[in-house]
Amino acid sequence: MTEPIYLDNQATTPLAPEVFEAMVPWLRDNFGNPHSPHILGRKSAAAVEVARQQVCALLPNDGEMIFTGSATEAINLGFGAVKAFLSEGRNKIVVLVSEHAAVRDTALSYQAQGFEVILHPVGSDGLVSMEQMEATIDQKTALVAAMLVNNEIGVIQPVGAITDIAHKAGALMFCDAVQGYGRVAIPTNIDMIALSGHKIYGPKGIGALWVKNGLKVPTLIHGGGQERGVRSGTLSPALCVGLGKATELCADRWDADAMSIANLAKSAREKFANWTVNGSQDQRYPGNLNIRRDGLDVARLMSDVRGVAFSAGSACASGSGRPSHVLAALGLQPAEIKSSIRLGFGRYTTVEEIEQAASLINRAAEEQL
Ligand code: PLP
Repeated sequence: MTEPIYLDNQATTPLAPEVFEAMVPWLRDNFGNPHSPHILGRKSAAAVEVARQQVCALLPNDGEMIFTGSATEAINLGFGAVKAFLSEGRNKIVVLVSEHAAVRDTALSYQAQGFEVILHPVGSDGLVSMEQMEATIDQKTALVAAMLVNNEIGVIQPVGAITDIAHKAGALMFCDAVQGYGRVAIPTNIDMIALSGHKIYGPKGIGALWVKNGLKVPTLIHGGGQERGVRSGTLSPALCVGLGKATELCADRWDADAMSIANLAKSAREKFANWTVNGSQDQRYPGNLNIRRDGLDVARLMSDVRGVAFSAGSACASGSGRPSHVLAALGLQPAEIKSSIRLGFGRYTTVEEIEQAASLINRAAEEQL
């Protein structure tokens, strides 16, 4: 079977060959526990710390970073910071309605602890209104969460400006930067940032939480006291090295990657000119194209177009049978949601692949309409 054209880079990215090479010695040769005091342990610990510095190079410089097993874990860890606010009478958590389930469901879990959780609306372009945010965030707000780049529709939220509003009210700001880290600059005023290895050509099974100096997050995983005592468990040097190397590559290739993605996006917008773009046309990460054609049955389209790996919505929600909550938040009707596809381009996508995929998808779509 030939491999399909891969246009699902928001779900996950392939491992960069350089990352694989960097990880191999830590899987094959260097097995020391990074928490052991002897020479083998110290060698592993040194590699972990180099990786931490590499990851921190694309984060604000006034904080510390904790390795986790995924961004989902980082989000669960970071949200623990709200607990300290309840005794001050701050019992409100404000998250965008379009957040990934990892943020949304973590926020909602705090309802059981007495928090009011507000799912803040977005406009038909997927962006928040600053006036509405000002009105929602008040002196009772403990934490505000807004994602940098939306995983389903690619829109870029003004997280720096949202952070200013949160801070004015005395609240903390959390940013799920999973779909932007390594590709989109992160504002420096945010208090907590979550990221993931497998969205930046790094390995699966590793993420990180960055926390501003002075802010305490309570322990999520109890045990040997690793990762500043908040996330116990032996770190995998191979995964840490992989995330570090993946970040270093993103930094080194920042302009080249951005140019290539912009070029792919231009080509895709031309090839899919008779489709409608979901979400803001210009305030978006160009590696994500979420588009619809009225009357299309995307489930059928996906089974007809086996030669392209793409998504009918959020890969995280696919298979759940639930319509996309992000597309619904834009005000799209169920039929419009069912006629939407997400194409995600990455570092290894070529213009020829976009052209081939467009011809396969457009031909199958025409047969239906
Ligand atoms: N947040 C966003 C925006 C995502 O796209 C994803 C993964 O799809 C996650 C969080 C969860 O990341 P992880 O797979 O590392 O838990």
